Order: sequence, then structure tokens, then C-alpha cells
Amino acid sequence: MTRHRRITLATATFAAGFCAFAFIAQGDDQRPGYKDTPMLPGGLWRVHDSDRPWPEVVTPGTASTQDQPGRAPSDAIVLFDGGDLSKWSDGRGGDARWEVQDGAIVAKRGAGSLVSRDEFGDCQLHIEFAAPNPPKGDGQGRGNSGVILFGRYEIQVLDSYENPTYADGGAGAIYGQHPPLVNASRPPGQWQTYDILFTAPRFKEDGTVETPAYATVLHNGVVVQNHAEIYGPMAFRDLVSYQAHGPKGPLVLQDHGDPVRFRNIWVRPLKAADAD
Ligand code: MG
Repeated sequence: MTRHRRITLATATFAAGFCAFAFIAQGDDQRPGYKDTPMLPGGLWRVHDSDRPWPEVVTPGTASTQDQPGRAPSDAIVLFDGGDLSKWSDGRGGDARWEVQDGAIVAKRGAGSLVSRDEFGDCQLHIEFAAPNPPKGDGQGRGNSGVILFGRYEIQVLDSYENPTYADGGAGAIYGQHPPLVNASRPPGQWQTYDILFTAPRFKEDGTVETPAYATVLHNGVVVQNHAEIYGPMAFRDLVSYQAHGPKGPLVLQDHGDPVRFRNIWVRPLKAADAD
């Protein structure tokens, strides 16, 4: 090897090493944060930890108007967007038997409840409904349906616009347990929204409750349930204890005999921010 080549090689090696060092240093610099701060509870991360994973990017959806349903966020599981009922069954192994009219699902008396084919645990759920117009019946007999998580825990759907009923049976109630904090109902025929944050119950190995289910519900953008504890499965004139079940269950829309319409249904499964 000539002297010139030796010098060239040495320079190249030094330059490559320097570049690698520079790259690593720059890589560290590109993750803002600190490694000399107090450890947070749980022992995984420090305050402002530069190694802590960044949140996944999600494109937000759009809000609905009375004339036009909005769009779901980019990471949502869309259960109905005006098309068909392929995401739903009758819960007995058959196809869903409700009808789709003008981009909305219409509950069909006697056709049974609508059961999602997918199952969900902790989740954010968006759903829109409209009570029949003109209204028919009163109390629990007017625009009754339900959004039932795990097929057990019902957020009541009712035409509660100028329609008195028992407090824990109105729109936005956790049926039979918690009345809504306020009655935020729109008149029959108008589209209304529920945004639900649901925390599934956890059970111990012996089947007893480790932590109950909780629900936060916004009705037309108004908080009507604020992290309300659910006491057990929905029941009429009864209080029923939890029965242990798995970490996921179907979403059920209740057939209560009234032709309530639904549209723009989507779910975002939730996990702890740092979970896999
Ligand atoms: Mg109901």
C-alpha cells in the first residue's frame, strides 16, 4: 500500500467513525427530553423521558350535521357508515335483520337486537340516533332502544324530549342505575349523538369483581355520565350482580319495538398510553 493510500484509508475510517458518532449524537438530540429527572410511579419512565414512545398519529374525524353524518377518526373501527349491515348479525348466527334506509339503520320490531360481529373491551364509541317522528307512545314506549356494551351494560336510548319517565330510564341513563346528569335530548326526528368512554369490568380468577365497569357519556356533546360506576348487567325492576366474562364483548343495539334510526357508528379500542 502506498503512503498516499494509507493516509486516504485512515482519513476515510476516521471520517466514517466521526460520522457514526455524529449520527448517534444527533439521533439522541432528535428525541427531546431528559434522563436525569425523577422516576414516575410504575418505575418505567422518568418525567419528560426522552425514550418514552411518542403517541401514534391519528387524523381526527369530522363532526356530523343534521343533514350529513361526520367521518370517523383514521384509526376507528367503522361499524356503520351508511352502507350495509355486514358488521352486524342477529346474535344467533344469522344476518342482521334490521333495515338500511337513506343511509341509516332502522330498528325493526320483532327482528331481534343488532349484534356487532367484532368484540370490544375498553373503548371509545360514537353513535348517532334519531327517535321516530312524529312521536308515538309515551314513557318507555316512545323511541326506546339501547346501546348495550358487552351485550350487558345498557346506555338507554329513548325519546326523552318532553317525555317523562323514571329518572334512571331516560336517554343517557345507565338503565336502572344512573339517571343522566341532565336531559340533553333533541326533538324526535333530529339526529343526536352519544360519545361513550367505556371501561370494561375486570374479574378475579375466582369470578368475583376486581374492578367494576365505568362509563362516561356525552349526549349531544353534553356530559350526562361522568365515570359512573356500573353495578352489574342491565335489568328491568331488578339489580343484578356481575357474572364474570372475558375482556371483550359485542356491541348490541336493542330492539324495543320502536323504529329508532342509527347512523355513523364507530369504535376506537382503548389501551393504556404506553401499552403495546
Ligand atoms: Mg332501552
